[in-house]
Amino acid sequence: TFNALVVDKPGTDRIHASIRQIDESQLPDGDVTVAVEYTTVNYKDGICMGPGMGLVQSYPHVPGIDFAGTVESSEDPRYRPGDKVVLTGWRVGEIRWGGYAQKARVKADMLVPLPEGLTTRTAMAIGTAGLSAMLAVLALEDHGLKPGDGPVLVTGAAGGVGSVAVAILARLGHEVAGVTGRPEQADYIRTLGATRIVPRAELGHATEDLFEAETWAGCIDAVAGSMIGRVLKQMKYGSSVASIGFAGGALMEGAVITPFIVRAVNLLGIDSVMQPFENRQRAWQRLGTDLPMQHLEAMIQPAGLGDLPALGGAILQGKVRGRVVVDVNA
Ligand code: NAP
Repeated sequence: TFNALVVDKPGTDRIHASIRQIDESQLPDGDVTVAVEYTTVNYKDGICMGPGMGLVQSYPHVPGIDFAGTVESSEDPRYRPGDKVVLTGWRVGEIRWGGYAQKARVKADMLVPLPEGLTTRTAMAIGTAGLSAMLAVLALEDHGLKPGDGPVLVTGAAGGVGSVAVAILARLGHEVAGVTGRPEQADYIRTLGATRIVPRAELGHATEDLFEAETWAGCIDAVAGSMIGRVLKQMKYGSSVASIGFAGGALMEGAVITPFIVRAVNLLGIDSVMQPFENRQRAWQRLGTDLPMQHLEAMIQPAGLGDLPALGGAILQGKVRGRVVVDVNA
């Protein structure tokens, strides 16, 4: 048996989470069994430990949308016992049991070998949030963004996606501005490489204006809601916004004429869940080279399995800073 954080809904709407002993025979089908070393807390994990919002389809459930560890057994020739692996996405931790346990079983197609330069711990400091931030940087680059084009805006800058996005963009030589609703985190965001802090209140409400000054050469947006509408109206001609998240609201509010018709701005959707293997590998390799490790260390908040329910509530309230790294064996 091994330890897992199990979320249950015992007959009522009340969600209950506790650490339980699980037998290996209860693990889902799959061809690779992994001894999990580290997992993390993403916004989606907060949903899966709490309201579920249709992501979790049956209880009892083991959440954890990403993990890193060592292969214990494999029926697939690509992986052997002892190999270090990373898992993100494929709806693991939502529709199937995930990484909030000392063991997980998945399909070999879902795994990525641990990239060079990373440990299982640093891979989970990056996690789905960081992988998505890198996918957003790649999308902006593929649409022409280069250092020297002007300031790049990161919304939700003290959060997981935002922290990694700030650190990568700054390392690549971009001028970075971070939006935050937590003034007390301004120094932290500057430490990661931002040179300008934009208070959330400046962008947090919709306006009737069709035009705002052309300000940003690119944007990585983790917030959406009315903020993305304001940001779109402030983008430079031909630039792009990478839309990753919706921490400020799932609907967007804004104008069409300024960003799209007059200024030819691109709105790029970023998905980390269904990305093909080659794109994941490309992003992980770039994370190995373009994310400064001392900045990644500055983002880490260590935790154990027992801390997860409280952290799930905190991330849904926008109260987690940077990246939580959960040692499942602690
Ligand atoms: P997180 O650590 O909680 O970061 C979100 C940040 O957004 C918060 O730290 C906060 O930053 C800001 N924020 C929170 N509530 C807000 C509000 N009401 N209005 C404005 N800003 C608000 O979460 P995360 O794990 O980085 O995820 C961020 C978003 O990206 C989530 O919506 C998540 O589902 C999404 N996501 C998508 C993908 C994908 O594949 N597309 C992958 C990973 C994550 P400040 O305190 O600095 O303002």
